[in-house]
Amino acid sequence: MPDNSLPQHSPYVIVGAGVHGLSTAWHLAERLEATGRGSGRDVIVIDKGEIGSGASGIACGVIRNNYFQPAMRELMAHSVSVWESDPDAFSYHPVGYMQLGPDVMADDVAQIAKEQEAIGYASQLVQGAADCRRYMEGIFEDWQAQGITVALHEKRGGYANNQASLQGLKAKAEAAGVRVFARTTLLELERDGGGAVTAIGYKHYQELGRVSCEQVVIALGPWVRTAWKLLELPDTVTVRGRDGKDYERPMWTYWSLQEGTLEVDPGFLVDNRGDMPPVVHVDTDAPLYDDGDGSLVTDKLWGIYYKPDFNFGGVQGGAMPFVVDRPVDEVAVDPYGPASPDFVVGPEFARMWTSALAHCHERFEGKSRLFGKAPSGGIGCFTPDSFPVFDRFADNVYFIADSNHGYKMIGVGHLVAEELLGSPQALLRPFRFGRYAKGELHPVSHSPFPWS
Ligand SMILES: Cc1cc2nc3c(=O)[nH]c(=O)nc-3n(C[C@H](O)[C@H](O)[C@H](O)COP(=O)(O)OP(=O)(O)OC[C@H]3O[C@@H](n4cnc5c(N)ncnc54)[C@H](O)[C@@H]3O)c2cc1C
Repeated sequence: MPDNSLPQHSPYVIVGAGVHGLSTAWHLAERLEATGRGSGRDVIVIDKGEIGSGASGIACGVIRNNYFQPAMRELMAHSVSVWESDPDAFSYHPVGYMQLGPDVMADDVAQIAKEQEAIGYASQLVQGAADCRRYMEGIFEDWQAQGITVALHEKRGGYANNQASLQGLKAKAEAAGVRVFARTTLLELERDGGGAVTAIGYKHYQELGRVSCEQVVIALGPWVRTAWKLLELPDTVTVRGRDGKDYERPMWTYWSLQEGTLEVDPGFLVDNRGDMPPVVHVDTDAPLYDDGDGSLVTDKLWGIYYKPDFNFGGVQGGAMPFVVDRPVDEVAVDPYGPASPDFVVGPEFARMWTSALAHCHERFEGKSRLFGKAPSGGIGCFTPDSFPVFDRFADNVYFIADSNHGYKMIGVGHLVAEELLGSPQALLRPFRFGRYAKGELHPVSHSPFPWS
């Protein structure tokens, strides 16, 4: 059999070679070997494109712990440890992460700081407008953002380079014996009378085939609905609200993640000491004015994030996403392909984001013309409460539906591998599908982003 042929049987089939599929494959292979229950040869990964042709391959790459939800924070702390375990292989830059916010977010951020302290996650809280300004001027002497009354400086986290980190994960998985098949599209999930999946049907280049299997992992990112539909799972889900009433909600909602790059030398945004600064995330309700003509961009709560990044070739970041009405699997143009920007990034994004950079730093004033035209941004698939679902369906199909939180969640694959081998993980328990019917929802913050 030629090396690139799929086997006729594989105990574990992982669908999707993004961060979750590759991380699960790597950890599963190592655990199978370590426990004597099998080897990496028992695991295959398939992907309809090349490695990283989905959301993981385009992600801005920010790694933070800054979550208002205790369960998310604990999960992220675990993932940050995985990033820290091999920074070179994952192309991880541990520069830290800085969250700045206005009054309306002050209590939320203080709460996050308190709980980070409780779990031993190093961070520094700064409160009050004058102290925040002083703290930020200590990092960037040209700091000038308005309306900031709280700052949380996470000393861990930072960012990683999207494609390089996936290659690092793939290398670890392959070293553990996993076989990864690109250009292999999942077409079918064959099931037995009890509903369990017994085989997958696929197309490898032009060839159709099937692999019988014992367990399937769905790590399809924004395409998660493909497998959801193959299993005939419902389009809507009943969610018990905080008021105790039941609401019918769409299972999947799509948001456009607007990102871009200012084509300056990444060294343009070093800190006062000439070092790479933390990733900066600013939310504020100060009015935002156009950097060119001074017209009002918005007087509502707005937010941006940014970092100097050699991978993207400039200062790269994004702003609040917006809902799109088309699921990824129904759009004619691949939102991750070269034709994506017009579809994904709205025309107002460049004006808003570059004006916001100038609002925060004097050095960005008059620089909006340097906004890059290269593809950036993409579409994320969100669950009914915008938090992940990690759960089994149809007996033996494990869904990793991260609700677009996920590039940073490199450690989820480790936890999922444990669950596949029969050890339930406390860190994943708050993310079961059953929480919707029971109304066991995660707390909601005042952030303008659906993922904080
Ligand atoms: C623009 C943007 C910026 C982001 N920035 C960040 C960030 O800074 N930090 C962060 O933590 N998260 C970020 N995210 C979210 C993060 O990228 C995703 O949550 C995460 O990458 C999802 O990983 P995944 O492995 O589930 O999916 P993906 O990486 O999308 O992988 C899914 C794979 O499935 C494949 N596939 C699809 N259909 C089929 C099929 N039928 N058969 C076989 N294979 C198939 C695709 O080709 C793809 O490679 C960002 C997302 C976007 C869009």
